[in-house]
Amino acid sequence: MPTAVVLGSGTSNGVPMLGVKYPPEYLAEPKNHRTRASIILLGDGANFLVDCAPELRLQMTREGLYEIDGVLITHTHADHVMGMDDLRSICIRTRRPMPVYAYEQYQADIKRIFPYAFMEFPPGVEVPRFHLADVPDEMEIGGMRIQFMEVRHGKIPVTSLRVNDFAYVTDVSEIPSSAWGKLQGLETLVLDAVRYEPHPNHFHFARALEVVQELRPKQAYFTHLSHDYDHYKTSAELPAGVALAYDGLRIEF
Ligand SMILES: [Zn+2]
Repeated sequence: MPTAVVLGSGTSNGVPMLGVKYPPEYLAEPKNHRTRASIILLGDGANFLVDCAPELRLQMTREGLYEIDGVLITHTHADHVMGMDDLRSICIRTRRPMPVYAYEQYQADIKRIFPYAFMEFPPGVEVPRFHLADVPDEMEIGGMRIQFMEVRHGKIPVTSLRVNDFAYVTDVSEIPSSAWGKLQGLETLVLDAVRYEPHPNHFHFARALEVVQELRPKQAYFTHLSHDYDHYKTSAELPAGVALAYDGLRIEF
């Protein structure tokens, strides 16, 4: 059965955050350790990665996953692209450029951030290779039919996706009606809920709960989480059908 693995459930800083001291009780809970937001969809013979967190290498090895057959970059904020260099080891092994899907404006960012991935080098110099492509409306990979839709993250567009009855909507402050229509009748929705306080570019806790009440998925998981959330304390306050995502969470769809 196709499965989504939450590689990272943390906000852009990760949790625990650099330079912050936390109570030992907080750190003792493994689910309070959150790498940057990313999922991978495991299909039949092919896996599709959504975003390249700075911890990509650690996330994949932690989960015992070795294959990546295509990548979606939802947008080019640092927490979603800084692991792209790690794709090098897979490009070297497969001798193929990695297919990377992103909006046109984000393809330009990827070329600017990783210019060496597009340059010629003498034999023996190994660099990652990206085959950039526009985000299609739909694509099939590993027997999964993935539908893509655009949401707003403050002023910028972000790609969300749906496969079967599973949807992943990260880095979102507004879901336009075109995407809203495609998020009906879900079994599972993984949704941005960055922190308790309102945020200009993200759904916060109360707003994310409202959206879940309107979309009515059978199960919602909040992701892109800051250190506001203490996994078990918050979990006890959540209504039925809503839970916090955590690194390593697996969802079949
Ligand atoms: Zn982010």
